[in-house]
Amino acid sequence: MATMHAMEPSPALLPAPARADDPIGVYIHVPFCAHICPYCDFTTYGGQEHLIPRYVAAVESDIRKRGTDLNGLTAETVYLGGGTPSLLEPEQVASILLAVRDTVTLTADAEITMEANPTSAEAGRFAAYRDAGVNRLSIGAQTFDRRGLLALGRLHEAEDTTAAIAAARAAGFTNVSLDLIFGWPGQRPDHLARDLEMVLHPATTALEPEHLSLYSLIVEPGTPMADGVARGILQVPDDDAAADLYDLAMRTLGEAGWLHYEVANWARVADRQSRHNRIYWRNGNYLGIGAGAFGRIGAHRTMGHPSPRTYCTAIEQGTAPTASTETITEELSRGETMMLGLRLLEDGVSRAAFAERHGVSLDAWFAEPLRHVVANGWAIDHGDRLTLTPRGLMVANDVCAAFL
Ligand code: SF4
Repeated sequence: MATMHAMEPSPALLPAPARADDPIGVYIHVPFCAHICPYCDFTTYGGQEHLIPRYVAAVESDIRKRGTDLNGLTAETVYLGGGTPSLLEPEQVASILLAVRDTVTLTADAEITMEANPTSAEAGRFAAYRDAGVNRLSIGAQTFDRRGLLALGRLHEAEDTTAAIAAARAAGFTNVSLDLIFGWPGQRPDHLARDLEMVLHPATTALEPEHLSLYSLIVEPGTPMADGVARGILQVPDDDAAADLYDLAMRTLGEAGWLHYEVANWARVADRQSRHNRIYWRNGNYLGIGAGAFGRIGAHRTMGHPSPRTYCTAIEQGTAPTASTETITEELSRGETMMLGLRLLEDGVSRAAFAERHGVSLDAWFAEPLRHVVANGWAIDHGDRLTLTPRGLMVANDVCAAFL
């Protein structure tokens, strides 16, 4: 296995929106899971693990081809997401990252994240992933409640998450994020309070993660969970109950001193924000590699063929691995800058960065929507930047609609 030095991410956090030549992100999608969770709506496939070697080879070819086409842009992040990237052997992760390093200029302090499920088999490979160059782990805990894990159809137990964080620490990871879901069937406020307690006050401080993503369960049509809800077998919290859960999380994490820097994301300290996801929220550039992966470079948005087989065949036959390419008009891009940038609750959208990126002042282009969102108490105009208010956070869709 190629061993690379796993450097720590730096605290450099750039404002929103991104400049056209700011460092980009590289997203690599791994569309395989050991089994499919009943609420899952991601591009992923169960029982297809035999395709992984072929898929890894295709991903490497794709990176080597499209990574050379970046016109001098450097990358500050690599993100292996899924699906379940930790189904890959460490050697496969190492060779994918080698393809990235061979073709894309990575900043010296690049943040290299891999999503992992907290099973013992995967945790046993954390040290090897770190040797492969991964320096940040995002662990899919979802909840520490046994009934919640059952309702979500997860294969792990609460103790596995604790053991996985311990394994990450033992492997030398100093940047660990946890994913939690709220609003699962049967969840009460005391369940969420216990989950947050496990995050904020684990048995030892070493087990406290640096970052937390807390997503509201969305029951997507066509999933087995949607069927269960439609037939009355499963009851999910209604909108008011879900809003109360979110409010509880904001209060609890805020009182513990965590930084609520994005709608669904908190950092223990400011420089542990997800630099990769900040590129999305800053409406920046990112290369999307793999089946179903979205990318955006300049005015072009791409989506990889959703089927891993089709994606592999396209790469092997030298045809386009993308199922669609959209041209993003400058007008749409300005709206997306607002929609995404306002999700950054501390930073918001910078007036200077907007003018530099879009060649027009925020006030000239969005005079009426600006007046509307401030007058409604949805946003605060700080002079140098615009941020959402707590009220605006609760009606984020209306705020976005004002700019699109
Ligand atoms: S592990 Fe994640 S990606 Fe895989 S099926 Fe479950 S929710 Fe979907």
